Amino acid sequence: MSLAIIGSVAFDTVETLYGKKNNVLGGSATYAALGASFFSPVNLISVVGTDFPRKYYEIFRGRGVNTLGVERKDGETFRWEAKYHKDLIHRDTLSVKLNVFEGFKPVIPIELRKARSLFLANIDPELQGWIFKNVSATGIVACDTMDHWIATKKKELLKLLGKIDILLLNDEEARQLSGESNLLDAARYIISKGAKKVVIKKGEHGALLFSGGLSFMVPVYLVKKVVDPTGAGDTFGGGMLGYLAGKRRITDRDLRRSLVYGSILASFTVEDFSVNALLKVKDRDIRQRYKALMSLVRF
Ligand code: AMP
Repeated sequence: MSLAIIGSVAFDTVETLYGKKNNVLGGSATYAALGASFFSPVNLISVVGTDFPRKYYEIFRGRGVNTLGVERKDGETFRWEAKYHKDLIHRDTLSVKLNVFEGFKPVIPIELRKARSLFLANIDPELQGWIFKNVSATGIVACDTMDHWIATKKKELLKLLGKIDILLLNDEEARQLSGESNLLDAARYIISKGAKKVVIKKGEHGALLFSGGLSFMVPVYLVKKVVDPTGAGDTFGGGMLGYLAGKRRITDRDLRRSLVYGSILASFTVEDFSVNALLKVKDRDIRQRYKALMSLVRF
């Protein structure tokens, strides 16, 4: 059961109290695709510049991610730079350079125009809408976003909400999009705009799901050391969608479990810079954290 993922593939420059890494592999679709790859075959749709090295394609292929839909365009790859505060939660974005993403409308290879599930990872909502129109998904469609797009493309994002099953965003973004300070009101607002379900990510406090009559909360798996939280939200979304993509009919139990797997996958991402920790994960590590998370919440 295939999952198509569109979003940014990037060179990130990130500074945390554990050091600074220049131009390392990042991007919303990178984290999402690698996270999802533990549960489902993934077709990645994105764009990179001619500066994107071969060894990075190998990283995707090494996890079984199909890169046929990753276009190579004249110009530079998307670049993002951020510096984290000492709390390793808040960050200042120092620069965002869309580069090859500027005005990008991908030519989607014919083999990728049908997918079981679709994850519109964080990128320009106009591009997300275009992909939605051009990839017909028979299963679940989810969309992630961030403050930058809510501030600059709110109208396009709201238009998309009427078409998707799940919107994922963090608590600050839910408040920003809805104008509500209470998260229940924010979720209600988002559902009133057409999304069937909302997942509100709360960083180190886990994530909330609202879906019709179902409300669910998942905590985070507590790691010994958070080195770099970049991409945690995207890995969460990828893990969640990857898990759901394998299901023929999605039950409330599947939805709950998908959040648990999202949370577990994200807990690996934060343990090192870029995708370094995520690439070392084995299925048994996921099983071990699943058990630990269960015993953390059982009472
Ligand atoms: P997160 O920490 O989950 O918010 O995701 C950070 C990742 O998203 C980094 O790897 C960035 O390359 C990527 N990113 C940052 N800003 C944007 C943006 N405006 N659109 C798409 N991707 C972005």
